Amino acid sequence: RSNAEKFEFQAEVSRLMDIIINSLYSNKDIFLRELISNASDALDKIRFLSLTDKEILGEGDNAKLEIQIKLDKENKVLSIRDRGIGMTKEDLIKNLGTIAKSGTSAFVEKMQKSGDLNLIGQFGVGFYSVYLVADYVEVISKHNDDKQYVWESKADGAFAISEDTWNEPLGRGTEIKIHLRDEAGEYLEEFKLKELVKKYSEYINFPINLWASKEVDVEVPADVDETSEEEESSKTSSEEENENEDEDAEKQPKTKTVKKTTYEWEVLNDVKAIWLRNPKDVTDEEYNKFYHTLAKDFSDEKPVAWSHFSAEGDVEFKAVLFVPPKAPHDLYESYYNANKSNLKLYVRRVFISDEFDELLPKFLSFLKGLVDSDSLPLNVSREMLQQHSSLKTIKKKLIRKALDMIRRIADEDPDESTDKDKKEEVSSDNDEKRGQYANFWKEFGKSIKLGIIEDATNRNRLAKLLRFETTKSEGKLTSLDQYISRMKSGQKDIFYITGTNKEQLEKSPFLEQLKKKNYEVIFFTDPVDEYLMQYLMDYEDKKFQNVSKEGLKLGKSAKDKELKESFKDLTKWWKSSLVGENVDDVKISNRLDNTPCVVVTSKFGWSANMERIMQSQTL
Ligand code: ADP
Ligand code: MG
Repeated sequence: RSNAEKFEFQAEVSRLMDIIINSLYSNKDIFLRELISNASDALDKIRFLSLTDKEILGEGDNAKLEIQIKLDKENKVLSIRDRGIGMTKEDLIKNLGTIAKSGTSAFVEKMQKSGDLNLIGQFGVGFYSVYLVADYVEVISKHNDDKQYVWESKADGAFAISEDTWNEPLGRGTEIKIHLRDEAGEYLEEFKLKELVKKYSEYINFPINLWASKEVDVEVPADVDETSEEEESSKTSSEEENENEDEDAEKQPKTKTVKKTTYEWEVLNDVKAIWLRNPKDVTDEEYNKFYHTLAKDFSDEKPVAWSHFSAEGDVEFKAVLFVPPKAPHDLYESYYNANKSNLKLYVRRVFISDEFDELLPKFLSFLKGLVDSDSLPLNVSREMLQQHSSLKTIKKKLIRKALDMIRRIADEDPDESTDKDKKEEVSSDNDEKRGQYANFWKEFGKSIKLGIIEDATNRNRLAKLLRFETTKSEGKLTSLDQYISRMKSGQKDIFYITGTNKEQLEKSPFLEQLKKKNYEVIFFTDPVDEYLMQYLMDYEDKKFQNVSKEGLKLGKSAKDKELKESFKDLTKWWKSSLVGENVDDVKISNRLDNTPCVVVTSKFGWSANMERIMQSQTL
């Protein structure tokens, strides 16, 4: 094309496309749901803008917020069109090629390891999956603020942009023309597309229409040769003959029925807002599917738990929350800076935003879900909405429900039960839930710890969800409640020790007496645990005692005084030669058994482990 401008893909994007093009990944179906999901996002955006600017939608077909799929078998082209926000020339250049998303290299790395493309959408590069089935793609787009442009690429490191002077004007929105590879011919079959939309895109909130063939019965005069429909229709198109035939038919009412193929739009999904339904009427299968669409998580795994509820009173809303089976790759990346909320906010069924920090605290950003409220205004800017007083109430209730849901994961897990008999009881229903809390803890335990640090109001509720190993847990995870139930009579404090790993801690001289006296000690081996324990002072009226710090009380023995007396001179000598910049005091201790002496941290000082963590951070 004469007016085409050429661009090179950003290097990481180019690498990604190479891998996709050459991938042996067998589940090529995924491209369709990625493109439909993009179309749906674009429709969400224009609908949101239309709330404050009615004109923006335009009139007639332009105002129809829908997705259209067309098949052109002859030219092997599959087209997906939306009437969404569209892309300006600059958008096309940036979004489809020159600006790499943060997830691009992470995804390339992951793909090289596992070859698994299924999670491409979660890395923000779903568009490129179209090259699993295409060797040439055209993206035609019209944004209200610009002319119509065509983006095209054969995935050979470059793409071209031209002002569109030859296609039909779109009005507004985007049409993607996928020139299918020879081996991807199945995507020209209507039944295949219907099946895929049903499987992956059923919960898209806009109608997905397929230009579908339909067999219709047509009444024709009995003496017409039925094998040549073409001829027949050309005959009847002549008015004169038509009239003649009608007269014939009246005289001689012999007609017969023949099949004829026509085309019309067929809606493939039935746009159901699952969250508006009564939870009792929604099946597990439906929740699973809804989760996959909502979270763009198309792994084979199901969500671990969900909570579907409605709140009434001053602030009304309905919500569905999910605990995903796995943590996303970047959950704790730039934790305090990035906008990480994964909740979608709807106001009266209209999608508003999925970047609302005000709905959930950061430590719960691993949850996926949706909130739809009737108590928020529709026709205000996002900034105004962000300050609306109802959001505080919504947030508070969401946190409560989220923590209840997480507690339930533990409650339903037979491995979590303290009751031995219940643990052995084999019920198939519970078996599926066996180990689910340990898995949750592996994926999201750190979030719970961050919650304890950040959320003073819910600290105790969150502390209940803590799991750790101890000197007595035999390699298994245990909870504070379980620890307390095993405390020795007379034991006042909850003992813990921090360090890099359990193996090392088990050999620590700090544990000698505690072990000998049969006290249980918690191992905290995660760097975040040091911070955690600065916030978690007590639990159920029990204080936490770091056993490597000053203040450990293991009960007095009659010999204490005697020992103190007989080592008085030695202690004095140690003091005179050591106390200064680095040492505060030298004491006779009853915390040791075999080891002659040990360095203890003062009550308010950093533990040795904390020193280590701080040092590694400043390096
Ligand atoms: P993501 O959807 O996660 O942002 P994609 O690779 O699927 O990543 O899409 C990249 C970007 O291209 C989108 O963020 C959007 O800006 C743009 N885009 C893709 N498809 C469309 C579309 N149908 N209409 C408007 N913009 C689109
Ligand atoms: Mg996408």
